[in-house]
Amino acid sequence: MTALIEARDITMAFGETQALRGADFEAAAGEIVAVMGPSGSGKSTLLHCLAGILVPGSGEVWFDGHRIDLLPETPRSALRRDRFGFVFQFGQLVPELTVEENVALPLLLGGERRSAALRTAREWLGRLDLDGLGGRRSGELSGGQAQRIALARGLVAGPRVLFADEPTGSLDSLTGEQVMNLMVGVAREQGTTVVLVTHEPRVAAYADREVIVRDGRVAVAVGERK
Ligand code: ADP
Repeated sequence: MTALIEARDITMAFGETQALRGADFEAAAGEIVAVMGPSGSGKSTLLHCLAGILVPGSGEVWFDGHRIDLLPETPRSALRRDRFGFVFQFGQLVPELTVEENVALPLLLGGERRSAALRTAREWLGRLDLDGLGGRRSGELSGGQAQRIALARGLVAGPRVLFADEPTGSLDSLTGEQVMNLMVGVAREQGTTVVLVTHEPRVAAYADREVIVRDGRVAVAVGERK
């Protein structure tokens, strides 16, 4: 397998807490990989290191043939903006912006013209069954709607890798299923790699492959599902 994104033997400490102790991870282009493991085992830290949000204390992070842990903050944040998409547990929409503006945000930050960015945002709202919600603000949405909007925002700029950290963690199981079906459907269609952190086996079942993080290491790679 040629990895699109890869961590090699990375460590990460927060003060006395050793969150990662030599973790290895790789995902190929278009692959959906679930990162499982108990709470506090280092799953989110691994995701943040892969996404260039955190820089590991040692080890290497590679994306598309380039080492990204050595990049200075400015090109690293440009990489996050242009190549990666994010969905977190609590949608984290910007409350002052409309739904449409929230979805358009990655495009606007990337320098796209407002009218074009909003047009693309509206297309995504249609695609994720959210027609008619574009003018609302996040306070006027259900949890499931907000998370689908966060998903639209995560995908709008056509990322190579979508990082999803407990994307269904705050949803009931039916709404969680909807969000996962949409996420996986779009990822398959666009060939987006997905790194999916979850502690729910039902959610991990959407992935092609599971890895398990224990005590800051990727301990077990569970068999392929494809
Ligand atoms: P998981 O996602 O598996 O629940 P995390 O990666 O969030 O685990 O955390 C791994 C360990 O690192 C935990 O002990 C957690 O308390 C600690 N940790 C994570 N982020 C921070 C931080 N920003 N500051 C201090 N400790 C942290």
